[in-house]
Amino acid sequence: MEKVIIIRYCEIHLKGGNRGFFEKMLVDNMEKALKGFKHVIKKHSGRYLIEGFAPDDADEMVFRLTKVFGIHTLSVADKTDSNLDDILAAALEVGPECGTFKVESHRADKNFPLNSMQLSAEIGGKMLEKRPHLKVDIHNPQSVIGIDVRENGKTLVFGDVIAGAGGMPVGTAGKGMLLISGGIDSPVAGHMMARRGMTLECVHFHSYPYTNMQAREKVEELAKVLSTYSCGIKLNVVKVTHIQEEIHKKCNGDFMVTLLRRFMMRIAERLAKRCGAQCLITGESLGQVASQTVEGMTSSGSVVESLPIMRPLCGFDKNEIIERSRSIGTYDISIRPYEDCCTVFLPRHPVIHPKIEDVLKEEEKLDVEGLIKEAMNSLEIVSL
Ligand code: ATP
Ligand code: MG
Repeated sequence: MEKVIIIRYCEIHLKGGNRGFFEKMLVDNMEKALKGFKHVIKKHSGRYLIEGFAPDDADEMVFRLTKVFGIHTLSVADKTDSNLDDILAAALEVGPECGTFKVESHRADKNFPLNSMQLSAEIGGKMLEKRPHLKVDIHNPQSVIGIDVRENGKTLVFGDVIAGAGGMPVGTAGKGMLLISGGIDSPVAGHMMARRGMTLECVHFHSYPYTNMQAREKVEELAKVLSTYSCGIKLNVVKVTHIQEEIHKKCNGDFMVTLLRRFMMRIAERLAKRCGAQCLITGESLGQVASQTVEGMTSSGSVVESLPIMRPLCGFDKNEIIERSRSIGTYDISIRPYEDCCTVFLPRHPVIHPKIEDVLKEEEKLDVEGLIKEAMNSLEIVSL
């Protein structure tokens, strides 16, 4: 029996005039996810059908499609001729051996001799005859068998409805520059923005040789996981070693993280402008650590001249962020124990509520522009 994958999409329905654009991005992103697999994507009454693939590829194709934002649910279906014997055979193939079930039919072909209620009753009844351990439960079944009689003499029969990634297709909501550390939070922040349709580019700051190569590789791996959701990613890698040494040498050490954050933000903004990103994204969460107070965010945010800063995790608890990080597949990489540059020269008493005038007084001791230029010269770009 021929297998097809049914793709049901979500909020795209709401996008009136822009609908064509959203649908095109969704198809482009599905094509990218399915690269290397023989297949055809066809549009069919508010859904997409993926056909023409090798049945053995179905599981891996479904796995990849579950990472494509904009897909609400998907199902692998049997495609049969529209006659009762073939439909029943398919229903037995996709349906359970025991437990409770119901059949839900939809009839687009109005010439089909039974209406949808009659078809559900007919197939459900036959299944009960063949499988004595099955029981019908209309209200709260353990399994639902879907039957979709199409206009072209073919019927789709499917069992499991698999949850898609939800959200909006990447490419429909502009581009953001994600400040990615090796920690748990920033990859989750990037995932959340990509899920709303944003294309991502990343920047990572390192302090080699105070931070090691494994720390950098870890970030590359994290960005690679993100790239499976965002259809490819560029990672900008910038060395801030000299900036930290200068802060350490010339400024009150308690301001290390506060001052470093301001450099990160300035550099991230310049890189964003270069690549056409329209906002910065961080993994900050209010009150999580000393630098993530509202005053800390004011201090780091005030150097960003003309872009909004998105902090999608701001209102999340750490355990909620960890849960998300597990489900998107970044947690195990994030917890590898390599140092981030923020922990180099870490003061014993970092300022928690930095006053902007104190920050500016410390910053005056540095050649801000010269240090930024030097850091920008260390830029390496990795495509993932
Ligand atoms: P994360 O888990 O994302 O590292 P965190 O809880 O450790 O976050 P901080 O270290 O205070 O928090 O960092 C706050 C945010 O600043 C990060 O989420 C990230 O967006 C950015 N950031 C921190 N360190 C770096 C870095 N080395 N390179 C790029 N961005 C960074
Ligand atoms: Mg961190």
